[in-house]
Amino acid sequence: MSTPDEEPTNPAHTLFERFVHARQCQEVLSCFAELCHQLGLQGNGLQLYHSLKAALNFWSAKALWSKLDKKAGHKDYDQGTACAHTKCLVVGAGPCGLRTAIELTLLGARVVLLEKRDSFSRNNVLHLWPFTIHDLRALGAKKFYGRFCTGTLDHISIRQLQLILLKVALLLGVEVHTKVQFKGLQPPTGKATWTGHYEFDVLISAGGGKFVPEGFKRKEMRGKLAIGITANFINRYSRAEVEVAEISGVARIYNQKFFQNLYNRTGIDLENIVYYKDDTHYFVMTAKKQSLLKKGVILQDKADIESLLSPDNVNWDALLSYAKEAANFSTNYCLPELEFALNHRNQPDVDMFDFTCMTRSENAALVREHNGARLLLGLVGDCLVEPFWPLGTGVARGFLAAFDAAWMVRRWAAGTPPLEVLAERESIYQRLSQTSPDNTNKNIAQYSIDPTTRYPNLNLQAIRPSQVRDFYLIGKVE
Ligand code: FAD
Repeated sequence: MSTPDEEPTNPAHTLFERFVHARQCQEVLSCFAELCHQLGLQGNGLQLYHSLKAALNFWSAKALWSKLDKKAGHKDYDQGTACAHTKCLVVGAGPCGLRTAIELTLLGARVVLLEKRDSFSRNNVLHLWPFTIHDLRALGAKKFYGRFCTGTLDHISIRQLQLILLKVALLLGVEVHTKVQFKGLQPPTGKATWTGHYEFDVLISAGGGKFVPEGFKRKEMRGKLAIGITANFINRYSRAEVEVAEISGVARIYNQKFFQNLYNRTGIDLENIVYYKDDTHYFVMTAKKQSLLKKGVILQDKADIESLLSPDNVNWDALLSYAKEAANFSTNYCLPELEFALNHRNQPDVDMFDFTCMTRSENAALVREHNGARLLLGLVGDCLVEPFWPLGTGVARGFLAAFDAAWMVRRWAAGTPPLEVLAERESIYQRLSQTSPDNTNKNIAQYSIDPTTRYPNLNLQAIRPSQVRDFYLIGKVE
């Protein structure tokens, strides 16, 4: 066994360290496969975790095991037996799919996670509520990403968050497949389990805002025209860059003068702006249409938003200048030589998008029954409720929903009647859209998948089983 002063020399230790520090999705997966191969380990689930722990008992790994053991020892998981006979398929390796998969494997379920992409490339930065920071620390986030929420920082890039969660998920025995797209369900032919390509009795969809499995209805929430712009610039961590203050959200109503000055000096007209210093210098802002037209970013005014923002109606160079000017003004021109970071297409990482209309699912879960075999389906993350980006509610509400979904699977595995499971899930879902750090329980150290630890005065029977009959679908998938 090596001591804190020694470099690990055992090949498995070296592989483990490479895995811990891997910075790309495929590198994480290949290091993990190599590590298991080196140790002669196969299989999945918590059994794999226990085998890894036994095989890697040097000091650096042990610090992580003690965190994960503490987590796994929570009473909600019944020592990893609560869902021991449940097979779960999770669609999407975004932050919410990964976070859900971790809870399900801690409950003892067999968990397969499918991701259609093969890389994590989103530089954009997510705001974290205190409970998400606490939660990620408890999963060992600092071990995987030393800069995780240092000092008062409360944000992380989407790709770093995915990397941390992917590593935890793999260590806890989640089976992850990338470049695999979930295309739909095949009902069981006999009295068996439902299949995609895999067999499972629970499907959790975490495929993001654009993907919703059949059977769920979306509700549109239409607000006034809102055009968002995100921009990422290279962070060189120079002294000047370190000193520039972040903007954790200025809205026009709170700082009229700032926006007036911005408009007078540059012609840029914004509703709000956020600036986070992370792996990149990240800006997200809501721009007014008139100023985008005036500055030549949007070429022609059009009634429908899709045509308005379609690539052939946008001057890309003007958009880059607009974003850069806004970034420079809002940081008092103190970020020297701003240079765009590149996205996965090797282009400047700038995006303009519409969030006039955000959607949410009418219900959080449903049950399908065919030939006597039941399948529980649940939604989490953007797939359940699309977030309003400038408010940064996405990942916090996404994690709350991930815990709620895991709780639902626990109740399902315990043999609770399906309509009761669905009614309870909908009673909890009613609370999600109103949640904020102020109206969720203050004792974040006590948060668990049990919803009563997180939502104050929760009525688990707000919705009755008789009200969710429409969410129990019998027969074939159309
Ligand atoms: P996502 O992070 O969208 O992950 C969904 C995953 O599912 C993706 O990896 C996708 O490839 C995969 N997938 C989809 N369909 C399938 C399928 N059929 N089979 C297999 N895999 C599938 N929020 C902010 O607060 N600020 C931002 O600046 C910001 N920028 C964003 C930029 C982009 C391009 C996107 C897509 C989202 C952004 N968001 C932003 C939203 C934020 O990323 C989410 O709220 C957060 O990541 C939680 O999302 P999620 O895990 O539910 O879904």
